[in-house]
Amino acid sequence: MFPLHQRLTRYAPHLVAWLMLSTVGCVLLARLELGQLRDAFETDARISHRLLSQRAVQHDAVLATLGLLQPGGAEAAEQRLSSVYPQILGVQRRDPGTAWPNAALDAAEQASRLARSAALANLDFTAERARYQLVLAAQPASFALLIDVQASVPWNDWSMPVQTSPVRVTLEHAGQAFVVQPGRIGDGGWRFEFHKHLASASQPFDVVAIRQVGWQELPWAFMLLWVVGVACGVVAWSAWQGQRSARRRAEELLRVGQVARLNTLGELAAGMAHELNQPLTAILANTQAAKRLLQDDPPELSTACQAMDQAVAQARRAAEVLARLRRTVEQPSSAQPDEAVDLEAVVRNALDLLEPELRRRDVTATVKAAQSVRVHAERVALEQIVHNLLTNALQALDQVPAGERQLTIHIAVEEGAGVLRVVDSGPGIAPDILPRVFEPFFTTREGGLGLGLSLCETLAVGMGGQLLAQAHAPRGAQFILSLPLAPAP
Ligand code: ADP
Repeated sequence: MFPLHQRLTRYAPHLVAWLMLSTVGCVLLARLELGQLRDAFETDARISHRLLSQRAVQHDAVLATLGLLQPGGAEAAEQRLSSVYPQILGVQRRDPGTAWPNAALDAAEQASRLARSAALANLDFTAERARYQLVLAAQPASFALLIDVQASVPWNDWSMPVQTSPVRVTLEHAGQAFVVQPGRIGDGGWRFEFHKHLASASQPFDVVAIRQVGWQELPWAFMLLWVVGVACGVVAWSAWQGQRSARRRAEELLRVGQVARLNTLGELAAGMAHELNQPLTAILANTQAAKRLLQDDPPELSTACQAMDQAVAQARRAAEVLARLRRTVEQPSSAQPDEAVDLEAVVRNALDLLEPELRRRDVTATVKAAQSVRVHAERVALEQIVHNLLTNALQALDQVPAGERQLTIHIAVEEGAGVLRVVDSGPGIAPDILPRVFEPFFTTREGGLGLGLSLCETLAVGMGGQLLAQAHAPRGAQFILSLPLAPAP
């Protein structure tokens, strides 16, 4: 398994995407809910304002009617007012030549006379029964209504449940406030406010509605659902991505494998020439000797037989070499033109392809590139060299305990060439076999063909470069590939 920090790095983009999508979704859901709560609040506040305004206007109308009914009709109306309008606790009149019982009513009558409409007096919102008086200066008598504020509220038409509604509604005037509906006002969260004066010039009370929305009122269930939904989406997306890159990796490996087989063909041909040369020479020598021995008089049958046996053995060896060739080669070759290739990109691509191998062996590959190095090379051949060197290093690392496996790839420019070093902490290469590792068919691996490094060297030399093997202190092996730098663009 990968260490925790590596897994975190791998899944960091998914985590960030999940966090961002979750946050954006939750903020939108919260805003939607707050918007709906605000709309509902404003509708309720406007209805309250309209209902209270209607009552205030009614008081103005009652007073105006009393003023108009006199002389004669006002007395009868005064008697019946309280039964029709329960909020009107009483009616007072000041006939010409008499005085109001208190100076406030005098002042209000003065104000009413000047304004030609009713005026307020003796407002007391703090009394046990909140009340105020409304005075209208008229001829011959002036009138004053005593109004009960609580009874002025049209409870039958009220749009909110008074005791349980979270909205607080107050009537405010001249520093006094009458609580129409207590509401629930807590700390924190969001506060909606509504202020509007009653639509009556004589009773310009401010209708104040307040709604405090607490954090607990946010749509947590939907938000949780969204967060879980996004997590599922990200996991599904990540799985799909994983499948896609596994497919891409498999295709790429197939391509590299095919190219490897193509190049191996050339290498194999060279190896075969080398391998077949010796048995063919021996067969030739043995058959010529046998011919001579048979022509002798008397013919040397037993020695001729021995020579023929040796020829047969050599022919068998040659046939074996050819069988190996047939097993290995399946595809024809094709060469690519040289181009400017970025060494680090090739290395990263190869590491990406080998990612499952690295993971399986618990190997972390480190790429150290001081600068970007572009070499003049045949891309596919370079890819194959890098792939082979990394595969060899991984096979070498199999032979040491998991905790000691290190693979480092250095990229640099040295002495005017692009240099790639593949360094592993494996068992290294014994000094006696170091000179032989590039020989065709030289292998120490069970099931190895011994053509990988020899092919890599041929390809490197073919591109004007070279490939060297060295021991690496304190342990392990390093393979150094140098290639000509690509001309500056
Ligand atoms: P194969 O992998 O089929 O054996 P190669 O040509 O790739 O053929 O390698 C030849 C030999 O070189 C290997 O069998 C091994 O002994 C040696 N070798 C290659 N790479 C390494 C390495 N990184 N560490 C140690 N030995 C190596």
